[in-house]
Amino acid sequence: MKMKPVVCKFGGSSLADGTNIMRVCEILNANPARKYVVVSAPGKRYSGDIKVTDLLYACYREAQEGGDCSQTFAKIRKRFTSIVEELGMDSFDIKSILDATEQEIDERKSADFTASRGEYLNARIIAAKLGRAFIDAKDIIFFDEKGAFDEKRSYAAIEQALQDSGDAVIPGFYGTDAQGNIKTFSRGGSDISGSIVARAMNAEVYENWTDVSGFLACDPRIVNNPQKIEVISFKELRELSYMGANVLHADSIFPVRKGDIPIKIKNTFRPMDAGTLILPSKKYVAQGNIVTGIAGKKDFTVIFLEKSMMNAEIGFARKVLSVLENHRICFEHMPSGIDTLSLVIESRYLSDGVLDQLLEEIRASVSPDYIRVLENIALVATVGHGMASSIGTSARLFGALSEAGINVRMIDQGSSEMNIIVGIDNEDYEKCVRAIYHQFFVSGAGQKQE
Ligand code: ADP
Ligand code: ASP
Ligand code: MG
Repeated sequence: MKMKPVVCKFGGSSLADGTNIMRVCEILNANPARKYVVVSAPGKRYSGDIKVTDLLYACYREAQEGGDCSQTFAKIRKRFTSIVEELGMDSFDIKSILDATEQEIDERKSADFTASRGEYLNARIIAAKLGRAFIDAKDIIFFDEKGAFDEKRSYAAIEQALQDSGDAVIPGFYGTDAQGNIKTFSRGGSDISGSIVARAMNAEVYENWTDVSGFLACDPRIVNNPQKIEVISFKELRELSYMGANVLHADSIFPVRKGDIPIKIKNTFRPMDAGTLILPSKKYVAQGNIVTGIAGKKDFTVIFLEKSMMNAEIGFARKVLSVLENHRICFEHMPSGIDTLSLVIESRYLSDGVLDQLLEEIRASVSPDYIRVLENIALVATVGHGMASSIGTSARLFGALSEAGINVRMIDQGSSEMNIIVGIDNEDYEKCVRAIYHQFFVSGAGQKQE
């Protein structure tokens, strides 16, 4: 029987310099099933360093303003030249490739094209180092007229190209749009590219290699050394990654989920560590803990509307949402009561007078009795399949917040009962995550009673 391949994606933190890339080559060479590799652009080498992708966005701005990007591109040139030197690739002509890239950035004046070059250049180098084929993402990943990922066209192209090429390196983060131009996914999008390749090649597993030994119960920058999650379902992962646990891009779940392909999060710097296994719901067996993980994001605005008999007014919610639609703004959550409805929106959509305009249009459209706006709100999601069947989970959660002196400004419980979201002031964000973590994870406090 033909062995299914393993598709690997290495993030920027794993590919930041030549020494790290050597480590990646060892990991790949250690298992012949790791046939297809998706790579990010070089990330930060130390705290305070700048990711190549961020330098490229700066190149784009420089070229827009001054006609060329030579000043910032010099920094990118230096990064890739030293990677090639550190890898001992004396005969690899990186200079010509960099010259051509700089010229193309100046000529094309496209933010997406410019940003994509970090992945492109890194993949060219790594393919040459490994002696594998370089397959350009522009020839195998496509977007449709609406800018959405074109599954059918892409999967057919990937299968064809990778069957012909044998072991290959593919740049993550970008593809080609309906007009033939380079288009990127949103930031962190190489995770999506890896998932797409895994699905197209019907992989045994999608290995996502990063700089932590798996998905942790919460952000390690907030809680010191949080518990590691050994197994998690796609559903839980989607909730947590969407809410800010950015180990994995929230949209990277869809391609592999459709193909029932598990994801494994692995640490490039500790390859022997088990990592986290992410499984489709039907293969997932409950782990016995109430809460699986906690994640959150800052900077939301809540628009709170009140109107007597709102629930009997046909079309009320539709009219409110039409106002958002006309401004092309999406909402994050919409908790509602009998006479109340709240809209939770990322604050970045509401600057430059947009908020006032929305309020005016909502007033004109549905005449609420009362409107209140809460700004600088953070959302924190507590997620776990075990929550639905454990009596008293919310009491413990809110008890912990009250004990920590945190004022809860909004509550939203997802219909799946596996997610409770609280809205709190931005300044309470870290304290809130710590309080919930402490309640459900410290000294085995999160195990269900049999
Ligand atoms: P990569 O460069 O491999 O794509 P990212 O920086 O995108 O890596 O994601 C890994 C980082 O995500 C970790 O270094 C960690 O700081 C952060 N992170 C945030 N939340 C979590 C969590 N719940 N579990 C593990 N890591 C987390
Ligand atoms: N390099 C891109 C970014 O920094 C994509 C990625 O790393 O996944 O967002
Ligand atoms: Mg990432």
